[in-house]
Amino acid sequence: MKVDFFRHNIDEDDIQRVVDVLRAGLSTADDTMHEFESRFAEFLGIPHIIGMSSCTEALQLTLLAFGVGPADEVITTPMTFCATSNAILHVGARPIFVDVEPTTGNIDPDRIESAITRRTKAILPVHLYGQMCDMKRIRGIADNHHLVVIEDAAHCLEGEREGIKPGGLGDAACFSFYATKNITCGEGGAVATASQEHASILRHLIQHRVDQSGIDAAQGLGLPPDAIPGGWYSGMNVIQAALLIGQLDRILTLWRRREQIAQMYRESFEKVDAMWLLADGYNIRHARHLFTIHVPADVRSDFLASLQERGVGVSVNYQPVHLYEFYRRKFGYNPGDFPVAEKIGSETITLPLYPLMTDDEVAYVIESVKAEVVRLLD
Ligand SMILES: *Cc1c(COP(=O)(O)O)cnc(C)c1O
Repeated sequence: MKVDFFRHNIDEDDIQRVVDVLRAGLSTADDTMHEFESRFAEFLGIPHIIGMSSCTEALQLTLLAFGVGPADEVITTPMTFCATSNAILHVGARPIFVDVEPTTGNIDPDRIESAITRRTKAILPVHLYGQMCDMKRIRGIADNHHLVVIEDAAHCLEGEREGIKPGGLGDAACFSFYATKNITCGEGGAVATASQEHASILRHLIQHRVDQSGIDAAQGLGLPPDAIPGGWYSGMNVIQAALLIGQLDRILTLWRRREQIAQMYRESFEKVDAMWLLADGYNIRHARHLFTIHVPADVRSDFLASLQERGVGVSVNYQPVHLYEFYRRKFGYNPGDFPVAEKIGSETITLPLYPLMTDDEVAYVIESVKAEVVRLLD
């Protein structure tokens, strides 16, 4: 048997919507964009959605829109895809990593306060694998220190914690519709924010600075005229929006199947002593973007290779960002700087998780993992 690491969920109706847009000579672009943005806003319960070309662009321009720039520090997690911290670098600011919770892999709120300096401007938490960070605590810390909170919710479209969704307590949340994300248009992203002013500034930023309402909004916030630079063209395009509209309608049905598969994995692996799983937090709806198992670091590469040989697509999410060559050289990071993130990074294996997986495929993945546990760990 062969189980792909990922298969998308774009169906014939989604494809037809793209065809319709093309046949209409792209003249329905505004309506289609509006439909996507308003449906997504309704799903999240956040008033303003701005479609973007990617989550990376969304993060970068949201940082800019909230006035983060050179000489500023942004507190974030090393246990993420490098897009998170690269966005901070792109606006000229410095990422300040804070180690993660051993149970969830999310940024550890207990460690945030001691990383705050007078240069700190923002906190950029990542809802790792789809489990939301403790946004109440993070918001509280941010308010005490007058910081902006921008959520990297690339994994967390469907997530909730204590009834709060991404963008609910953060000043803005950024999403990804990259090829392997929960819903996808190949590449794409979005920003959600409750702030009318910042939504206007973002729309202004992504249109070569031609939108006067963005300039007005910036002035309304008391920013100097040149505080908001211009010159991007980073909005989502109509073909991306057309592909996403139908997937947004099905989003919770798709999520339910991933939840079911995740529960099958959890039940099968929870009692296997030789490996461990991250914890599901209390009062949470896990968005189930990625399902990871964790094995001792010295067998991880054998484990990955054997699963591949058995036809099970696997991946590693993530090598902690501070250990990337570029970050080590630029900022002098070393192994041992963030031991919890490093431990997770050296032990984690991502298994296939997507709605089109059949029960037989799930059973085969489980059987394959258990066989490798016996072979490599008993
Ligand atoms: C995928 C991802 C991104 C980047 O998303 P793009 O849409 O590909 O730019 C950012 N952060 C995290 C955590 C991701 O997984």
